[in-house]
Amino acid sequence: MIRALRSKEVLGAEIAEQYLVYAPYWRVSGMFFQWIFGKKHFTPSYGTSAWETLKELKARPWFRTFPAFDSTKWGPPSIGLRAQTVKIWPFNKQKMGENLLVVKQSVSYKQATDLVRHSIETIRSNTDIEIEMAKSELVGERYSLLFFPFYYFTLTRNSQKSVFIVDALSNKIIKGAVAMDELKDNQASDTIPYRPLKFLPFQCPNCGWDFPFTPHAQIHVCRVCGQAWKELGGEYVPVPYRIAEKDDSTPGCKYLPFWRLTAVIDAGDVQYKTLKEFFKLFPLPRVMDEDELEKRDIYFYVPAFRIRDVRAVDKFSAQLTRTQPQFTETAGLTHEQRELYDVCLSMRDAKEMAHVLLYSMTKRDHKATKDIVRKAELQITHALLLWLPFLEKGIYLRESHTDFALQKNAIELE
Ligand SMILES: [Zn+2]
Repeated sequence: MIRALRSKEVLGAEIAEQYLVYAPYWRVSGMFFQWIFGKKHFTPSYGTSAWETLKELKARPWFRTFPAFDSTKWGPPSIGLRAQTVKIWPFNKQKMGENLLVVKQSVSYKQATDLVRHSIETIRSNTDIEIEMAKSELVGERYSLLFFPFYYFTLTRNSQKSVFIVDALSNKIIKGAVAMDELKDNQASDTIPYRPLKFLPFQCPNCGWDFPFTPHAQIHVCRVCGQAWKELGGEYVPVPYRIAEKDDSTPGCKYLPFWRLTAVIDAGDVQYKTLKEFFKLFPLPRVMDEDELEKRDIYFYVPAFRIRDVRAVDKFSAQLTRTQPQFTETAGLTHEQRELYDVCLSMRDAKEMAHVLLYSMTKRDHKATKDIVRKAELQITHALLLWLPFLEKGIYLRESHTDFALQKNAIELE
């Protein structure tokens, strides 16, 4: 920091006060989806105009970091992409150093979620598209409050006082006019306004065996007794699940987790509850036994594994949901030690993704379906975690029963 000061035009000045100041930032990550249905205008030949219908998906991992404090007087310091790369640790006053001040957090969690929602809904393509219907969703959102360090100096030169703020990570000087007295009012306490992390033993509550260490997992499956658990309010609660049987006996299956959500598609005046009704909305070319379909519920298959290529996985899940396959399922682990991949998406997040799938399954020119989907809500009546068996074939993983393919590099397998 001294280096940073010397390099600038502050030589000859006296440091009257210096503090280490931590400013809170919201860091948000998730998977961004945006479906746009509309019309695209074009000019086929001189003096004429025409349009064609369009269906477009924007899907990508999404990160943002923005100040959780009133940053208007700060310049404002942009920490941008660095927030994803810097080393962070849990809130710890010892590690943060002596003589520290914390900038008051003024953007609440609720306000942060509102800002994010507004921000993703206003992402629009700038082309000449006339939007007919659109759906924007951030799935699997994670919010973290990060405290970033800044050095704060009050300098005196020729009895003139000035303030310098230096980004403590990049040593860049930030032009700012934050009054020290304002910051001093927020003396850092040993507590933060959030429930501190409670560390649960990383062990199965049923048999006491250690869980496999998987930092991204939302649900832990005990490899000894086969029980699955999730953390809820500082305790483990059991999670029911099923494993689909593979169709052939080839060894070397990978099991990928999906949330299977039983849903009613509610479009206000009309409701779709059974598969018979579902296939009226999303017709399949083949003929099926209608009496049989009338007895079956509608399932949405939402990927629960870590995703690298959001678009590819969306396509796969839409395909699975459109065809409504029937799997042979078993409860829990059996004699075979199976390779079950981690569950990284909570059930709540899965519900948001299911709504996106409704748009993914809708055909570009299918007006009747679009009219329903535009106003439809999903009522989830049941949820079950289901691991599906995939066989590796070249660059693909193929689901054993349906043979639907997913590119291996679309998935984060580590
Ligand atoms: Zn166990």
